[in-house]
Amino acid sequence: MTKFKRILLKLSGESLQGEQGYGIDAKRLSEYAQQIKEIKEMGVQIGIVIGGGNIFRGLSGAGKGFDRVKGDQMGMCATVINSLALSSALGAIGVKTRVLTAIRMEPIGEFYNKWKAIDAMENGEIAIMSCGTSQPYFTTDTGSSLRGIEIEADVMLKGTRVDGVYTADPEKDPTATKFDEITYDEVISRGLKVMDITATAMCKDNNLPIYVFNMDVPGNLKKVVSGEPIGTFVHP
Ligand code: UDP
Repeated sequence: MTKFKRILLKLSGESLQGEQGYGIDAKRLSEYAQQIKEIKEMGVQIGIVIGGGNIFRGLSGAGKGFDRVKGDQMGMCATVINSLALSSALGAIGVKTRVLTAIRMEPIGEFYNKWKAIDAMENGEIAIMSCGTSQPYFTTDTGSSLRGIEIEADVMLKGTRVDGVYTADPEKDPTATKFDEITYDEVISRGLKVMDITATAMCKDNNLPIYVFNMDVPGNLKKVVSGEPIGTFVHP
């Protein structure tokens, strides 16, 4: 049984690099594909947005002398590379996808609009929406919020490498405790780094709840979609 009819899954580019520190780790990629296949078989409609931080981020490029806008465009191209990799990994295990790009670049992907994404999902394909928002100075978290709202997803599932939202960074502070649920207002007032403020504000204003959970544990995506209480539920 699935708790949701339609979800927007956000995967960070950084987690695709696995233990390598850069690029795409084939093992991690196929683990993610397997988890996505599991929830596809439950009948849930799936839209996916992937980041590009495993390849390039405009902000860090700017610190090394890159023009910020060109750097952000490089970052958006990185999201296309990751989207193609995920599409390929899913195709290899028999799951159909449609790669949509918010910046026109046929034949790599079809030019995005919300109806193409919805059409793909209603036809049993997974809509992989790349290029973030298509604009510089934004992130793929904001891209996910935007796409999640546009495709009328019931929820955004934010797959990370920690198991939820904590009072402080659990990788740095051993006394940090996890929230089972929290409101967007609290996320903002406590300065918690769930997503950037633009993405958080968009979800709040448009009533899109999110689950933050650890995607690196096989089976976790299925648990979240089945309604098991893992991760942190962030709601308006
Ligand atoms: N980016 C952008 N506009 C967007 C989405 C992404 O300019 O709407 C660029 C930006 O440089 C960003 C990079 O693409 O740093 C990769 O995305 P992100 O950092 O969100 O990836 P993640 O942290 O999820 O791996």
